[in-house]
Parts: sequence; structure tokens; C-alpha cells
Amino acid sequence: MSTHLVWFRSDLRTLDNPALYAAAAEGKVTALFLLTPEQWQQHGIAAKKISFLLRSVDCLSENLANLGIATRIVTGSCFNDAAEKVVSVAQEIGASRVFWNNEIALDEQRRDTQVQKALTANGIEVRRTEAATSLPVGAVRKPDGMPYSVFTPYKKRWISLSVDRGIQTLPVPDPQGPAVTAAVAPETINGVSKMAGADDWPAGESSALTLLDKFLDAAVENYATHRDLPSLSGTSKLSPHLAAGTVSANQCLRKAYRRNQERLVGGNESIDTWISELIWREFYNHIMAENPHLAMGRAFKTETDALPWNRDTEQLELWQRGETGFPFVDAGMRQLNRTGWMHNRLRMVTAQFLAKHLFIDWRLGESYFMSQLVDGDFAANNGGWQWSASTGTDAVPYFRIFNPIRQAERFDPDGAFVRSMIPELAGASAKQTLEPWKFGGVGSYPKPMIDLSAARDKTLQVWKATKKQLELR
Ligand SMILES: Cc1cc2nc3c(=O)[nH]c(=O)nc-3n(C[C@H](O)[C@H](O)[C@H](O)COP(=O)(O)OP(=O)(O)OC[C@H]3O[C@@H](n4cnc5c(N)ncnc54)[C@H](O)[C@@H]3O)c2cc1C
Repeated sequence: MSTHLVWFRSDLRTLDNPALYAAAAEGKVTALFLLTPEQWQQHGIAAKKISFLLRSVDCLSENLANLGIATRIVTGSCFNDAAEKVVSVAQEIGASRVFWNNEIALDEQRRDTQVQKALTANGIEVRRTEAATSLPVGAVRKPDGMPYSVFTPYKKRWISLSVDRGIQTLPVPDPQGPAVTAAVAPETINGVSKMAGADDWPAGESSALTLLDKFLDAAVENYATHRDLPSLSGTSKLSPHLAAGTVSANQCLRKAYRRNQERLVGGNESIDTWISELIWREFYNHIMAENPHLAMGRAFKTETDALPWNRDTEQLELWQRGETGFPFVDAGMRQLNRTGWMHNRLRMVTAQFLAKHLFIDWRLGESYFMSQLVDGDFAANNGGWQWSASTGTDAVPYFRIFNPIRQAERFDPDGAFVRSMIPELAGASAKQTLEPWKFGGVGSYPKPMIDLSAARDKTLQVWKATKKQLELR
């Protein structure tokens, strides 16, 4: 019987894992996970995300051990030494083939090209499969073969293709023999403890499935109305799991489809809306794959790179700490800093405040989010930031600027979310949580760092002037 190596990366699951399933169908499997702490540092990955990954690797290794599959957890440094590490493990176990599921971001693709070259040079075959999104990169194109850049027609096509293909998931492969001993990831790596955030973020495949079922049983029916209210638990909080691949997009879509009278659209309004959010995830991943310049720090609308962005460090730090003096913005930032996650409504409000009112380069916000998020996902984060900054595909128009006070009035009308995140405002009335300065300030909570309407006018002027200059060129 031939021996195969399955290299796990952002697909830390046994269910619906095409690489694992294919390898197990063809021979005896050993699993590999490569720790790349220096690469994570270069990519600015949050400590909470690293510890979530380490705990998910432990769960995966245990599930695989019960199937008779041993896991090698190998410590490397960055993607450049991946080829040497993968070849060395493959040779040690006498593997004739190495299997993996493709990743979408550019550095990961470059790494995979290097690893494939090295394996092939050593006479080891490579089998690559798609699992990062439900529909693979390149599958959702316009009739003329060009990629979409607007969400609504993309979604229409995505749904029609998915209805034709059906949303299928793969089972766990059959056990390969008696259980083996599970490998365990290190307790700390580069100073990051495996247990950081463990109480808030149970990791691993079975936690993901429990969360998915709980959400579909209890909350999905109210998603359309509750998903915008940060004081409620109205969303799934599956994002760390989707980012680590402890659950697949297909698993989420298939269960939602079943719950939605076997429809992807035109069923229950709330379930339709949740499915639509999963399609946004597909969209941003496909946009990232089709536009490699996005992974090089460039705007989707490259002409907007000419905007004279502000890089004021003091202002940036006030925003990072949640001390802008605008409670709804600060509550979002403090939720991020404290928990590693921020509600989607707040991600839009805080990102627009930075990129519009402060006119600070959206890339600084993008990397700060990445440094804190337990669900940091390059495509979704970049897409969300460029949407907010009006530099991205299908982005909000540059002249549409969320007013954080009006946003709080609509989405946190009684101030419950602000009070829960900002201790200085814990005893404030609903009106005080909107505009504390109108009451002479509340306790030690900071005064507004800017005049909102003057900042808005200034930003609009700069955008208009830059657009005019570019048209004249
Ligand atoms: C500035 C900004 C930055 C963001 N950064 C990230 C990020 O790094 N990682 C990340 O997963 N999401 C990101 N998002 C998208 C969204 O905020 C999160 O996916 C969502 O808040 C996660 O919570 P949830 O799992 O409860 O979502 P739910 O509402 O339950 O949605 C289910 C899943 O759909 C996907 N999804 C939902 N909304 C979006 C969206 N707008 N774009 C892409 N996918 C979406 C996520 O995978 C999510 O887990 C960002 C949005 C903005 C505006």
C-alpha cells in the first residue's frame, strides 16, 4: 500500500476535506502541519488567531489519531523554508504523493509553487484540490470569461452555478487502522500562548459544528433583523472557524440550504441573508485571486492610490485604543482589542471613521485589524477595508460617509452596546452614550478628537480635487 502525506493549512478539519479524502482513498496517510511563526509575524497575524490555530491543530490531530492517522507538527520559520520541511517529512515517511487544498492569497500560492517544484524534483507527486471556497477560483465568471467586479451579478451567477452543481460535502474518511497517539502543538510559540483567548473562542472542528448547529437552531431565523444590532448575539460568530477551515463554506451552505426549504435564495428572508453573507466571502476570495495587486498593498481602483492619505500617528493611536471620543467607534475598537472580534456593523463604522473622517490610509487600518482579529482573513479584511474606504470593488461611493452618531442612533438606540464596552460610560443614559460632550462630558471619557462635519467636508474636498487632477492627466 502506498503512503501519502496530507499537508493541512487553513483546512483544519476531517469532514469535507478533499485533500484528506482523496489521499485516504488511495493509500496510507500521514498528516503534516507546518508552524511558521516568522511568516505569521511578517503577515501581522493576531496572537489570538495564532493560538486559535494551535488549539485547532490539536483537535485535528486528535480526530485524525482516532482514524489511525498520525500527525507531524513541524516547526519552521517562514514560507521560504516550507519546501525543505515538506520534502524532508515526505521522504522520511516514504510518501509517493503529497496532497493539499489550495490557498488563495499570493504568498501562499508562491510558497506552494516552490514546494511543488521541490517535491517533483525529488520524484514525489503532488495532488492539489480546492476547498477554500464553495465554488473554486475562476468558476464564477461573466459569459465573456471575464471576472466579475460587482457583487449583485456575481451573486446571481454564483447561485445559478451552485443550483446546477448542488452543494455537496465529503464525509470523514474511513479509519485506517487502530487509533494512534495524537501529536500536540507547542504550548507557546514566539511568546504566544496556546491558551490565549481559549475561553472566548473554543477551537477545532467539533466546536465549529456545535456553533453552526446552535446558530441554525436558535438565531438564524432572526438574522435579517438582529444581525445589525451589536448588543445582541445575532450573528453566527463562525468567522474564526471559516478562517481556520475548521468548518468549510460548503458545510455552512449545505446546512443553511436544507434549513431554507432546499433553496439558496427565495426561502426564509433571514436564511437567504445569511447565505448572501457567505457569498460575500466567496466574492472577496475570488476578487483576491483574480487581482494579485490586492496582495501587494495596492487599491483595487489603482487610481485611488494617488489620494494624499493622512498618516498621523497620534490620531491613528487614538482610534486604535478606542479613545476617539465618539462612543460607537470606541465601543467597536474596544470590542476588537478585548475579544479579537468585532461586530460587522462596527467594522464598517470604525473603518469609515478612520478612512473617511480621519482620512488615514486604509492600509494602516487593515493591518491593525489583522493584528487583533481572531478571524483575520486576508481577502475579507482587504475587501471590507477597501469597501469602507471607497477604493475597492463595488465599494461605497466616496461621498457616502457613515456618521457614527446616526449609526449609533439606528443600531444601538438604547446605548446597551456602548455601555457594555466602555466602562467610563457604564452608567450613562441612552442620550449620553450618543453624544456625551453635549452633557459636559461623562466621567473620564475623552472629548471628541475632531469636529465631524468639518472633517467630512475636508475629506470630500480632497477626494474631489484628486479626482479632478486625475481626469486632467
Ligand atoms: C473593515 C472590515 C474588515 C473585515 N475583516 C474580516 C476578516 O478579517 N475576516 C472575516 O472573516 N471577515 C471580515 N469582515 C467581514 C465581517 O465583518 C465578518 O465576517 C463578520 O463580522 C464575522 O462574524 P460572524 O461570523 O458572526 O458573521 P455572520 O454574519 O454569521 O456571517 C457568516 C459568515 O459569512 C462571512 N461574511 C459575513 N459578512 C462578510 C463580509 N462582509 N465579507 C466577507 N465575508 C463575510 C464570514 O465568513 C462569516 O463568518 C470584515 C468586514 C469589514 C467591514
